[in-house]
Amino acid sequence: MTGRCLRFLAILLASFALLARPALAQQILRDAETEAFMADMSGPLVKAAGMEPRNVQVFVINDPEINAFVAGGQYVWVHSGLIAQADNVNQLQGVVAHELGHIEGGHIIRSAEGMKEATGITLLSLVLGAAAIAAGGAEAGMGILGAGQQAAMGKFLAFSRAQESSADLAGARYLSKAGVSGKGSLEFFKKLQNLEYRLAIPQEDSYGRTHPLSGERINVLREVYTVDPAWDKPVDPPLEARFERIKAKLIGFVSEPTQTLRKYPESDQTIPAHYARAYAWHKSAYPQKALAEADALLAAMPHDPYFLELKGQILLESGKPADAIAPLREAVKLTNQPLISTLLGHALIATEDDANFAEAEQVLRNAVARDRENPFAWYQLGVVYERRGDTARAALATAERYSMMGQDAMAMRSADAALQGLKPGTVDYLRAQDIAMVSRAAVEQQRKKK
Ligand SMILES: [Zn+2]
Repeated sequence: MTGRCLRFLAILLASFALLARPALAQQILRDAETEAFMADMSGPLVKAAGMEPRNVQVFVINDPEINAFVAGGQYVWVHSGLIAQADNVNQLQGVVAHELGHIEGGHIIRSAEGMKEATGITLLSLVLGAAAIAAGGAEAGMGILGAGQQAAMGKFLAFSRAQESSADLAGARYLSKAGVSGKGSLEFFKKLQNLEYRLAIPQEDSYGRTHPLSGERINVLREVYTVDPAWDKPVDPPLEARFERIKAKLIGFVSEPTQTLRKYPESDQTIPAHYARAYAWHKSAYPQKALAEADALLAAMPHDPYFLELKGQILLESGKPADAIAPLREAVKLTNQPLISTLLGHALIATEDDANFAEAEQVLRNAVARDRENPFAWYQLGVVYERRGDTARAALATAERYSMMGQDAMAMRSADAALQGLKPGTVDYLRAQDIAMVSRAAVEQQRKKK
């Protein structure tokens, strides 16, 4: 357990940032390319469901079980195991459409046994809730806190057959409206059914357990899908290529390197294979081999921001922060993506060169302004302020970070410390006051509960 955590710590702090690390492996994996892909892949379906794409987010959870669920309002959670098992983007879209059907139906947890099992998982909800609090409004935060606990329980919930068929039909409607074929959905359900037959018993927290599958369900879906005008519509090649990339990098990131290298052997010279191997080598601490894979990717696409990001990440994490700056700067320029900005800020700080601190502060401030769920960016910003002798704003950055992570007592203390040094009436002062107030209220509420 410890060894695994350390390894994660070593790697995660960059492009794949780990948000939460609770007891039961409910880790949210954050990655710029993956998030952009998820938004584009699900956007048309979300719109077809009559929801606002801005408000619906698809997150990836580091969990090898094949599962997906909705919880916490309009969040769709997809296990890394499901992405690894999906053969194409159309299958993933089928799953997401079905999950959106559960959102529209307002389906809730009904399994009492599931509730009991899940009580130990809380950190996921804390992170979400705290992020909402940081974004403003304790009330909004509390709302998500409750819903977020459902997210933590999501893997234990089981829907009724009526809820499943209503989500199926809703999902089919969204696919049709978005002009996406139902073939992938059908393939994926059949694949899951085969898996369950083969294993004889349903897996603990598999998709089949949380969304009971039946031959009848599949038959009904087939009838609906095959007559739809989109049935024979092929998968969009650029979207499919993006899917193969994020699938490969995800596998490279979460799997044992030996497994990754078996799945993507050296003989495979495709883009996804180079991508997966880059992570495998990087995880096994072979920076030269990892860099060679990154360079192969850049030879094919020299200005791909995510390949530049990868190269910067490998250089930074193998102790060459100065070399990481150029590729990361270009990646930030191309995307203005806050997770990549955070990585650039990290590299600039890691050079320990005073001349880089002004740029570090600027890119990190840009990152925290655009991404409210990135405690690591606040950590880095605190480091810059500290180095520049600005202890009050360093304390404020620390308060932001603790608040985001749901560590209310620490957030309160840091915010109080920041208030000592900040000029009254400034934006930073007011912000510190807000955090102090919200975290104090949370601390007092926890005290009352005990
Ligand atoms: Zn379902």
